[in-house]
Amino acid sequence: KKISIAIDGYSSTGKSTLARQLARELGYIYIDTGAMYRAVTLFALREGLIGEEPDEPALEKRLAALEIGFERNDETGRSEVTLEGKNVEGEIRNLDVSRYVSQIAALGAVREKLVAQQQAMAAQGGVVMDGRDIGTVVLPEADLKIFMTASPEIRANRRYKELLDRGEQVRYEEVLQNVRDRDYIDSNREISPLRKAADAIEFDNSDMGMEEQFERIHAHALR
Ligand code: C5P
Repeated sequence: KKISIAIDGYSSTGKSTLARQLARELGYIYIDTGAMYRAVTLFALREGLIGEEPDEPALEKRLAALEIGFERNDETGRSEVTLEGKNVEGEIRNLDVSRYVSQIAALGAVREKLVAQQQAMAAQGGVVMDGRDIGTVVLPEADLKIFMTASPEIRANRRYKELLDRGEQVRYEEVLQNVRDRDYIDSNREISPLRKAADAIEFDNSDMGMEEQFERIHAHALR
């Protein structure tokens, strides 16, 4: 039987690495829901819909016609997010999008649209989905739920290295601040705040290596 796996947790806990690896191993589809919120944020930035804060009514009007999707990168085999049919995977990870994404993700109209799309994508089962509200809201009936945590410093350090690898000019303190800000907004927003589902297994991977983590979770998935 093809099951559904929900992976939630704070930013940069290694959710996507784990989810992608699990999906590959099980022959499932991997869905990165954070990439969808990031794509909406990129759209809002490009269209000038974020000043001091997001212009919610203006964004809401544009949402119905907004097309967010995924396409496969044949070289890497990874699925990459598209905005209006164009691949935007390269742009959505920058610090500018990271700064605003949690504000955009707190908007009811945005969540409504993306949650419905995520549920439709998972309807056939055989998915590993990562995000903040997968086990609680998007797939409350998921067969396996995982909640990942790690210290903010460890997460910021991971993120910082990734950004440097991509050639971005950032300071570690700036990345740490962004990680803390997003944790705060994600955990305290009114709609679908970041929570561990009651039936989720918690993993603190502050000092657990990727390998060990994967082995433990893979064993759970095969049970
Ligand atoms: O996973 P990632 O760090 O790329 O997600 C970016 C942001 O998108 C999160 O900080 C959060 O504000 C939002 N998000 C969300 N619900 C999800 C996935 C992401 O609110 N399911």
